[in-house]
This record gives sequence, structure tokens and C-alpha cells, in this order.
Amino acid sequence: MQQLAETCEAAAATSKKTEKIGLVADYFRLHPVAAPQAAVFLSGRAFPAWEERTLQVGGTLLWRTVAELSAKGEIAMTAAYRRYGDLGSAAQELLEAKAPPKSSLRVADVAAAFDELARTSGVRPKAHLVKDLLGRATALEAKYIIKIIGGDLRIGLRESLVEEAIAKAFGESPAAVQRANMLRGSIAETLELAAAHSLSSAHMRLFHPLGFMLASPVADAEEALTYFSRAALEDKFDGVRAQAHCGGHADDRVRIFSRTLDEISGSFPELAPALRAFPDPVILDGEILAWNADDGHALPFSALQQRLGRKLVSEELAREIPVIYIVFDALYAGGELIIDRPLEARRKIIEEVFRSVPEGGFIADASVAAPRQSKLTFDSVRSAATGLPRVMLSASRMAADAAEVEEAFLAARHRGNEGLMIKDLDSPYSPGRRGKSWLKLKRELATLDVVVTAVEWGHGKRARLLSDYTFAVRDGDQLLDIGKAYSGLTDAEIAEMTPWFLEHTLEDRGFRRTVEPRTVLEVAFNNMTRSDRHSSGFALRFPRIVRLRPDKPPEEIDTLKTAEEIFEKQSKRGKAG
Ligand code: AMP
Repeated sequence: MQQLAETCEAAAATSKKTEKIGLVADYFRLHPVAAPQAAVFLSGRAFPAWEERTLQVGGTLLWRTVAELSAKGEIAMTAAYRRYGDLGSAAQELLEAKAPPKSSLRVADVAAAFDELARTSGVRPKAHLVKDLLGRATALEAKYIIKIIGGDLRIGLRESLVEEAIAKAFGESPAAVQRANMLRGSIAETLELAAAHSLSSAHMRLFHPLGFMLASPVADAEEALTYFSRAALEDKFDGVRAQAHCGGHADDRVRIFSRTLDEISGSFPELAPALRAFPDPVILDGEILAWNADDGHALPFSALQQRLGRKLVSEELAREIPVIYIVFDALYAGGELIIDRPLEARRKIIEEVFRSVPEGGFIADASVAAPRQSKLTFDSVRSAATGLPRVMLSASRMAADAAEVEEAFLAARHRGNEGLMIKDLDSPYSPGRRGKSWLKLKRELATLDVVVTAVEWGHGKRARLLSDYTFAVRDGDQLLDIGKAYSGLTDAEIAEMTPWFLEHTLEDRGFRRTVEPRTVLEVAFNNMTRSDRHSSGFALRFPRIVRLRPDKPPEEIDTLKTAEEIFEKQSKRGKAG
């Protein structure tokens, strides 16, 4: 583990991507036994991306453990934390005198300790395990173990750079490594395949998630059509992204994965029976929406939120907030991976796949009445007389020019949807990549997805609640504050979040607490100004929280570059009149 920590240290010390890649590649070559597990850790994860397991070790527990092991008081701890803004680095300094000077920990020991931590519940038993692990670590090892537990190494390495390092270490092409990793969903296995020069043997596994293709924001229809001209238009539904793996009639398993590649089948038990209607195995991409079966309208995202994060859903809740799955893409069908085919061809395949389902096949339960009229006037909805079809194909149309895109955007909003997706009909499905082949045109021009970095106690009736949120955008590995908002969420939402913030406080300064950057919000604002009030160099005017984004991992929040682009566009518009 010491050599891995030293590699991390060296990678952190250089800002050059090629040097980071070279250092990691050297480590992989020199430590073949530890390398597969190290690749997972170097991606900033305790477990492979597709696994459901989590450590469930919060900042407070780590803080206390470091305090105990270093025998340092709150003042010294806080001072060290402030110096680095990162508990891992602070721990290294605090533990220097106490930790064993020589390492006896292997990477495999850390992995074994993580396995045990994931299996153990309760704060005390977990604290015991963390203390034992950190107690065996050198100060430098402790620094990186804490960072891995926290889910962010902050050394400027992303999984894509680890892929490049694997390619370099074993003389393979980065594209081959990337593809194998996408297909296997495991960087450790990918490394093993690369080391054995058998990347080409990687094939897709049904029931293991593939990465999701992501979209880039555009300001208007005209900008959208500068990237491509043959465009498919779809409503942008306001739900949660989901990838459904259906085994077909031969294998009746169904697994649904979230954008963070976690399995969420348990949160939506009514979808599996409907997804079993596909006769042949298929992997679908789509959006889960909360649905009002009485009037055939999507329910607001906040309704769906009550269904999220639950491992088990009561029948009552499933009846109260029914869900449907709207499909807009397919990754695997007809016994083949079809991600390399253009969208236009994939769309034809999906339509065929839907035709292969007998009439009424998606109506898995008769308990929920058919919608009388539908916001999404899909034929499948209208024709269903005896129940709610749980699976639908999203409507898609072609657009010839910007005027048609604009019109479709207004129509989508009129239907109550969030906005419009504009997709390049000639583009392949690129898992895990955010490019310009899928574009999103949203309700408000200026919204940013940000992460909460600090919270403050509210006033008046919110005095006992942590209700004022400071939030940040991302710049590489850094989080830069850009604003503060206290309006937009309901009292119930704030009340629910307060204990989480208390539990995940990194630093308590009385009225204000620095918290673990995990809560993602979408914020809207009227305009943006340059300001030195926040570390991003920008401030937002009239910021308000549009909604919580539990479906979006903090790594995917908007960047400083996006903020700068919004600022530039706004300045141009201002000048134009
Ligand atoms: P955002 O989450 O704002 O980055 O926007 C992209 C998200 O929009 C995707 O991850 C999907 O969850 C969602 N979405 C809604 N409707 C569609 C659609 N028709 N096609 C693709 N993504 C969609």
C-alpha cells in the first residue's frame, strides 16, 4: 500500500496528464499482483463501479478515528483540516508522530478491510474496523485510505486516465482498454485482460450495467443545429435515468440500473413484471417517471423522489406513486451489442423490439387504472383499456431546421416536460461520455448542477434546520463555490436533509458547517456576475434551488467552464440588446 500511496503522491505533484499516466503505468508494471485492485482505488473507488456495495463511513467517523489515533484535540484537528481542506491530508500530518514508520499493509489488506466494512453495520463496529485499519497504516497510507473511503483521491486521476495508464503499462491501445472496461464494467478485470493481452475477448454481460451516454446543454435551437443537421427530437422527461436489462422469455431476470450504475430494481418492483414482456434479451435506456394514472400526467420529480433510495417499496406507496419506464434507446438487441450503430438504426431496432411484445404485454398489473388522457399521447397509452402500461416507447421526430426545434421545445414544455433532447441521428451510443451528439435544451437557460459544500442554520421557523446552502461547481478536481441559496426546497425536504448534513459535517463553525460534497442540486438564477465573494470568481443573482438531484453523482456536476460559457453568452445577449 505504501508504494501505491507514493504513486498517488507523485501523481498529485504534477499537473501534467501524461506524467500522471506514466507514474500509474509504472506502478502497474512493477506491482502485477496488486495492480487490479489498485486500479479500482486509483479510480477513487473502494469497490468496482458496478457494485452495489458501499462503505457507509461518514466524515464524522473518520474525523473521530483520526482524533483518537493521533491523540490530538479538536483545535489541532480543525487547524490541520483548515490547512489542507481535506481530511486525508490533515490525517497524514496529525498521524506522522504516531503511525508506524514502516508499512506492513498490502493493497489486498485494505481491500479485505473494505469488504468487512461493507458487511458490517452500526457506527461502533464500523469505527472499530476503521481504527484497526488506520492503526496499521503509515501516515501516508492513512492519507490515501481516507481519501478512497471519501470517494475522491483528489490527485487529478479519473477512471479514463487509469484506462490510459493500463494501455501504456501493457502496450495496448487506449480505445481497446476503454471498450473492454465499458463492456465488463470493471477496471480491475480490464487490467487483467490487458496484462494477458486478451482485451479482445471482453464481451458484454447481460445484467452488468454499461455506462450511460450523456448530453451537453445548448442555449437555443440554433446552437443545437451547429453540431449536426440530421436531428431527432424527443421530450426531455423529468425523472430518473435507468438502464433495464431484460433476460427475455428464456431467462426471466430483469435488472434495472441507475446512472451511478447502482441496481435500483428494488425501488421499482412494478417495472420488472412489465419488462418481462420482451420475448428476447434486450438492454434498454430510458427514464423512470412518476405517473398520475388518473389524469395521465407525469407527477413532479419530488413525488418520484419518495420512491428513490428505498430498497423496499410498500404496496401502498407503489399505488400512491405509480411509475412508468419511458424507453428512448437500446444498447443490446437481437443477440448483439448495437451501440456502434447510428441512432437512426437503433431506433428502428427498438421499434421492432416493441412490436415483438403482444398487445397489453406491458400492463403487468390491473390494479392501476388506465389514464383517461395522456400528456404523452402515445398510442400505447391510449389503447390500454384495462391498466397502466408500465413501459412505453418515447415519441421521436425529425427536425429540419431551427424553427422546428424551437416549436418542439415549446410543445414539450407545454406537455409539462422539462425541455427537449436533440440527438444526432448519425451518432453511435457512447457509454459514459458527454459529447455533442446528444444535446439538451432546458426550461430555464441558466441552471447549473452544483454540489453543496457548506450549510448554515436558517432563520425564523427554519432556525432549527440547516437550510442555507453554499454550493460549488467543479474545476478539475477542485470544487469552487459559486453561490448560496435558501429558497426552492420544501420545509419537509430541508427537515429530511438536516440530519444528513449533521452526520456528514467536516467542520463545525457554529452557525456554518462545511459538509461532505455529496448533495447535488440544480439551481436556477436570473443572471451571473463576476465577483470575488466566491472562489469561482462568479456570483449568481436570485439563485433558487430547482430540485435535488440524488440521481446525479457529484463527479458529474457542472464545471467552471460551463459557468464561464453561460456568463459569456449572457454578456453577448446583453450587448445585443
Ligand atoms: P441532465 O441530467 O440535465 O444532464 O440531462 C440529461 C438527462 O436527461 C439524462 O441523463 C436523462 O436522465 C434525462 N432525459 C430525459 N429525457 C430524455 C431523453 N428523451 N433522452 C435522453 N435523456 C433524457
